[in-house]
Amino acid sequence: MGSNPTPSAMSTSAGTDGAASRDAHGDAADGAPGEVEPDVTPMARALDEARAAERHGDVPVGAVVVRDGLVIAARHNERELTGDPTAHAEVLALRDAAAHVGHWRLHECTLYVTLEPCAMCAGAIVNARVARVVYGATDPKAGAVRSLYELADDPRLNHRAEIVGGVLADESSSMLKAFFAARR
Ligand SMILES: [Zn+2]
Repeated sequence: MGSNPTPSAMSTSAGTDGAASRDAHGDAADGAPGEVEPDVTPMARALDEARAAERHGDVPVGAVVVRDGLVIAARHNERELTGDPTAHAEVLALRDAAAHVGHWRLHECTLYVTLEPCAMCAGAIVNARVARVVYGATDPKAGAVRSLYELADDPRLNHRAEIVGGVLADESSSMLKAFFAARR
């Protein structure tokens, strides 16, 4: 499975950044108006994308790109579907977003992804000059923005993204665990 996250890799302990989101998750319908954290709605959309990946046997990871409050790209992992090792949700979403914006530079965009990005995707985030990255579950085995490396805000590189982790982490982690459990 290469760098696929394994069930044991899935963790919802994304650190201090995720504390607020755990209180906010899932209350779009029953929570008090105005109390839903702004990052929750786009992350819920990314989780919908993750579900779509599962339908064609891909590890359920979804990503959306938001600019000026609007979702301009929404994709999911298509590695198995396409046989393309680079077809991670983040890379596909960044490509779509750049096509939408008309330029490779996405410095006004926020990338939402249901699982902590890997090294390849963290590199793409830096190269796209993404302003902000919000992720769901932590990936201790392959995560490259906090867990194993901090590539997307390394001061030695020429771009640093703001990183927020742990948004709807439980939902993302549950989906991943169920996916791998069903394949055992
Ligand atoms: Zn990746």
